[in-house]
Amino acid sequence: MTEVPYWVAGKPSTSATTLDVRHPGDDRLVATTSLATAPAVEAAVSSAALAREETAALPAHVRAAALTHVSTQLTARGEELAHLITGENGKPIRWARTEVARAASTFRWAAEESRRWAGDLHRLDTDAAGAGRLALTRRVPRGPVLGITPFNFPLNLVAHKVAPAIAVGAPIVLKPAPATPLSALALGEILAETDLPAGSWSILPTSNEVAAELVRDPRLPVVSFTGSAEVGWGIRDAVPRKHIVLELGGNAAAVICADYTADADLASAAARIATFGMGQAGQSCIAVQRVLVPRSHYGVFVDLLVAEVERLGVGDPFDAATEVGPLIDVAAARRVEQWVGEAVAAGAVVRTGARRVGDTVAPTVLTDVPHTAKVYREEVFGPVVTVDPVDSFDEAMTAVNDSRFGLQAGVFTRDLRLAFLAHARLEVGAVIVGDVPSFRADQLPYGGVKDSGIGREGVRSAMHDLTDDRVLVLTGV
Ligand code: NAD
Repeated sequence: MTEVPYWVAGKPSTSATTLDVRHPGDDRLVATTSLATAPAVEAAVSSAALAREETAALPAHVRAAALTHVSTQLTARGEELAHLITGENGKPIRWARTEVARAASTFRWAAEESRRWAGDLHRLDTDAAGAGRLALTRRVPRGPVLGITPFNFPLNLVAHKVAPAIAVGAPIVLKPAPATPLSALALGEILAETDLPAGSWSILPTSNEVAAELVRDPRLPVVSFTGSAEVGWGIRDAVPRKHIVLELGGNAAAVICADYTADADLASAAARIATFGMGQAGQSCIAVQRVLVPRSHYGVFVDLLVAEVERLGVGDPFDAATEVGPLIDVAAARRVEQWVGEAVAAGAVVRTGARRVGDTVAPTVLTDVPHTAKVYREEVFGPVVTVDPVDSFDEAMTAVNDSRFGLQAGVFTRDLRLAFLAHARLEVGAVIVGDVPSFRADQLPYGGVKDSGIGREGVRSAMHDLTDDRVLVLTGV
């Protein structure tokens, strides 16, 4: 098996410190790459700093052409990339295919936005002091970006860092998660086919210690991090004066409202919650974790949810019918097992699941969970859903907000008044009405409040975050 290179200033490279990437399902070797060592990291950072002006000056049509090429190639290589994602991450192939399609869409959307990316014109003659003057603002890159990404969407979350950086003309050094670097490195092959300045991009797996040094490097004034709250807020504390974007964890809730309790409505909500609570083993920051149901329909709903969950295909992620594969590693599965055990010891009732074999946890539905339990309070990041009865919409809103996280929430209702009330009251980045909280689209701002992060992604929001206003005032016009 040949060693997969990493990318330093647009060029393939390897080091003597090999990194074996193993399939979570059976631990077989998928591929070997290597960790970038100090000279490679230095080359990547100094090239990014040197390429700053050249990258910012790239014409929009060149940036758009590069982004379009990446989008087209991601689609053309879709099956290969989906297999790579399932190989390194263990997510079911059907979810991996969706991820590749999403990444292609992110680059396509960035290509479109790069063509539209202009400034604003401001009239100043609104006051006598401004008469005879005119101003315009241009968004200029804040400088080279350090992107750090987690294991759970190893291609699409990399796309969410790289595509907006290219769109605004900011060099980027991207550090993928050590468990899942391969699809990011394959993206490097595609980037190498474009006309982007070589120094403007690097994709390098590093140790976490080297990543922490990159965070502190003053030549990378913007850090865009997606990952756990613990690491993310630690980064913020380490470099409080840098411009930081944090896309962190959640424990998303789905609320079923009283108007959504007809048999067919409960059945369809249960099916959606089963799929998006348990799919890809619950390893999504907006997977459904907590469900709130009117007490009058609580028993019926729990039975429907258990039936839907027990219908999900569990097992080999390469099987097209599988919805729930292994977690990223045995340690993650053991942690989920332990949290479920702690909840049960404190009085929670297992309605289905709560079994672990190796790194696979059976999709688990819990009721009667004390709200002090980690499966309720923390981010479970596994196939575990808790269900609680509520006596009113008001109580449901309070329960959703009773969390240190605030990423997204789903509200099953057709009552427009309740939709607006939920939007006004829920402390989250987005409220999805009529569905689970797990919806995301490239044209929307995406991100959280409270411990879920600061700043927003979504292509246009990320482009805004990577740039600053620079004002030009014209006098005598
Ligand atoms: P993690 O925080 O352990 O790691 C994320 C990245 O940070 C990895 O590349 C890791 O190598 C790196 N890292 C670790 N220590 C570091 C340090 N000291 N300095 C710099 N970099 C360091 O997260 P994970 O386990 O890979 O991913 C799961 C987490 O990601 C979950 O909490 C999930 O909710 C979150 N996530 C959030 C979003 C979002 O958009 N809000 C999306 C996906 C995942």
